[in-house]
Amino acid sequence: MQRGLRGRAITFIADPFLQDPLTCVRHWEDALILVEDGRIAYVDDYAAGVRAGRSVELEIDEYPGAIICPGFIDTHVHFPQLEIIGGFGAHLLEWLERYAFPAEQKFGDIDYATRIADLFVRELLRNGTTTASVYCTVHPESVEALFSEAHRRNMRMIAGKVMMDRNAPAALLDTVESSYRQSLQLIERWHGVGRQLYCITPRFAPTSSDAQLAAAGHLWAEHPGTHMQTHICENVTEIERMRELFPDRSSYLDVYRHAGLVGERAIFGHAIHMQEEDFAACHNDGSAIAHCPTSNFFLGSGLFRMFDARDPSRPVTIGLGTDVGGGTSLSQLRTMAAAYETGRLCNTTISPLQALYLATRGGAEALSLDAYIGSIAPGYEADLVVLDPAATPVMKLRADRSESISDLLFGLIMLGDDRAVRATYVAGEPLYRSGIAG
Ligand SMILES: [Zn+2]
Repeated sequence: MQRGLRGRAITFIADPFLQDPLTCVRHWEDALILVEDGRIAYVDDYAAGVRAGRSVELEIDEYPGAIICPGFIDTHVHFPQLEIIGGFGAHLLEWLERYAFPAEQKFGDIDYATRIADLFVRELLRNGTTTASVYCTVHPESVEALFSEAHRRNMRMIAGKVMMDRNAPAALLDTVESSYRQSLQLIERWHGVGRQLYCITPRFAPTSSDAQLAAAGHLWAEHPGTHMQTHICENVTEIERMRELFPDRSSYLDVYRHAGLVGERAIFGHAIHMQEEDFAACHNDGSAIAHCPTSNFFLGSGLFRMFDARDPSRPVTIGLGTDVGGGTSLSQLRTMAAAYETGRLCNTTISPLQALYLATRGGAEALSLDAYIGSIAPGYEADLVVLDPAATPVMKLRADRSESISDLLFGLIMLGDDRAVRATYVAGEPLYRSGIAG
């Protein structure tokens, strides 16, 4: 089944942190994008497409004034924390105790988990996000709920059961044995089913024993193609806790390296306080970092030094994460704006093209999925977001004075949120259109 989209379109063909951003982007003022069987079959100037007979007898969704981008990719988010977004007045460890841990205890109930998973997935789509790397809870039911909701919409989703065997409420603890067994069962049930991918998910070093981290490492080694996610260097008190618990390790990353939890398909959330040696190690072993700026602001965790991490002599692969519920929005536009603001507070400047790259192709690279998603090119999975840079009166005022695609994007990033998402396509199907419920 073929479908067409028409509008301004933009995608990346290279990394704008490593070379002139203008050489990294493909931009069509008026593009024709054809999708077939869930994949992009064709993209070119609309006029060229018409001349080539590509638009004949085809239903075309026209988006005048909008910008069509690859669907956004959220590389770090906790779906069971949706209800505690905006939890007042705490740093990380206190916030976990006061808000996150109580909320997560409800997710052993499959009906509740399914209700929140359904809402979460719909909210992702309403925000233009088509793929996310998701932390569930320790309960296998929470993973079952999320994968079920993503699978029935044919979304490419990465998710896993949190592994946690110490330093949390008893109701949220598993054991070395049960965490291994339950994760294994979920891999067998879900990894590679449709577009679902399993992610081995030890929450972070302070809540896992040495033995549990080692079990996670074994499980990952035994199942090539699965992913691994955890947190690292988010907060100074958390880092002190890690040092007390793992006195023999040379750094936070060394704890994970020792357990076999670094390398391709590993993504570490935050890395705010990561030092040079560990950035270099991430570059060398292929581990990626999820930068979660709204969360870092909200919890007062600190400022991620993007340009240190992306030093062209040993660039670490970076994606953007909303980190809801520590983060304050599921919108990648809000997240890009916060990444820009974090850059300013570090006396650096992330350009609009660099920001959009992080939310699309960069995120796909961080999840080792850049051969499948994150680009508008023939053969790629047809996950697309249609953005309206004039979604509100002030946005229209700002957009009308933009003279370049770069500046148009920057206004959209700084002022935009879910109101700017006109439509979201998943594998070529329009699963969300603004103004249409359901
Ligand atoms: Zn997190």
